[in-house]
Amino acid sequence: MTLFDSFFLDAPESVNVDGVRYHWQSLEPHYNVGDWMLPLPPWRHHGYSDSGHAAWNILQHDLSQVEPDKPFCIYLHTPFCSRKCNFCDSYSFKLGSHQTERIQDYVDRLCYELRLWSQQGNLSQRPVSTVHLGGGTPTFLGGAALRQITDCCRECFSVSPETEWALESTVNELTPEITDVLHELGYRRLHIGIQTLEPQVRKTIGRLRHPVAALDVIERTLALDWVVSVDLICGLPYQTLTGFMDAIEILMDIGVNGFSIYELLVYPQNRRWCKQYGLTAPSRHLFNYWMFVAGALLLESRGFAKNLFNHWADAQDTNIYFTFPIRGEDLLAVGTIADGVFGNYHYRHPSYARYMKHSQDGLPGLEGGLRRDTAFDMIQPFVKGIQASRISGQVVHEAKSNFPGMSALLDRWMTCSLINHNGSDGLKLTASGSWFAGNLIADLTAFLV
Ligand code: SF4
Repeated sequence: MTLFDSFFLDAPESVNVDGVRYHWQSLEPHYNVGDWMLPLPPWRHHGYSDSGHAAWNILQHDLSQVEPDKPFCIYLHTPFCSRKCNFCDSYSFKLGSHQTERIQDYVDRLCYELRLWSQQGNLSQRPVSTVHLGGGTPTFLGGAALRQITDCCRECFSVSPETEWALESTVNELTPEITDVLHELGYRRLHIGIQTLEPQVRKTIGRLRHPVAALDVIERTLALDWVVSVDLICGLPYQTLTGFMDAIEILMDIGVNGFSIYELLVYPQNRRWCKQYGLTAPSRHLFNYWMFVAGALLLESRGFAKNLFNHWADAQDTNIYFTFPIRGEDLLAVGTIADGVFGNYHYRHPSYARYMKHSQDGLPGLEGGLRRDTAFDMIQPFVKGIQASRISGQVVHEAKSNFPGMSALLDRWMTCSLINHNGSDGLKLTASGSWFAGNLIADLTAFLV
């Protein structure tokens, strides 16, 4: 029996085994599933060309040139969590002493920064498409701080009834009291890090609430008419294919609107923990890839469509913050490590200690910035298409005209079943294409070298 057959031996009915096999066999001669990459922001490729001070001067100038009706998104980063989960790769940590004071200091600093940005150009008049609180765990800040941040956004910027108010949270922090406060403040979209519904897996990764309690929290939020999407991870300790597929079915059944799926990342900070559970073995990627494709095919068979390379959504889940580049909007990102972009100028904030030290005296405390070069802008529409999982016929046509090797590259992607036809002349990413989205973008940037 092959490894593939033994992995799917007791697969639940929800698994389209032939579909997974087709994707795997198309891919396997050409790509190693362990070599996948995330799409990376430009500063990860090239570093910064400008210091934080210089970046701020450039942004002030750029912002004075923008037309007043151009929409933008606001993202606010909260780095705090009640505990640091052993598997987590996000920039987040548990606060030690003086928790209340440190939260208040951080929230004051966010509001200071928001006010500073609102005084630049006509940013305060431009329409805001979403205010998104990410982390970490924004709800860890507590009701009063969330109210302060929200009020500050409303005072400083042109939020309207169309502006979506969204946040990320974990089940633990989403108490009925906090949910009520958020609802009163206008929040209507929740992205929740559920990760898994298998009890033993939840226990191992430190998810303290039983799956039933976790589902209760989601149902309570859905009952308030919020849009709710979830994170699910492939590759957790003790995880089973059946448990993973059942979780998707259960979450679809209760009405969850969107699913972000990704493989557990092994990185320096969690490597020891991953090693303890055998998660660093190269063979794990294969099982995780098969699980990922099985989940993707199930979601697609139930009408969920990707609006981001790893996010499957129903019609209500427009995923406004994560899809801002596709709409050509700017992103005002505020807070430690938050990275934003205005036009073709990207900037980022530093880690917590430096952010707290430098975001004052008329400065937002930026770490650095860089302008995307014009060559990169030539492939940018295609990159956006990959990020959105859909590339229009016009973008495909232009890329073929601009880059002589493009047709051959697309043929290779098609042979490997990374892309598929979408309508008459457009393309879309398959499940394998979603797994390799960062690699597809790297293939494109190779044209620029
Ligand atoms: S609660 Fe979420 S953000 Fe915080 S450490 Fe755990 S997984 Fe990471």
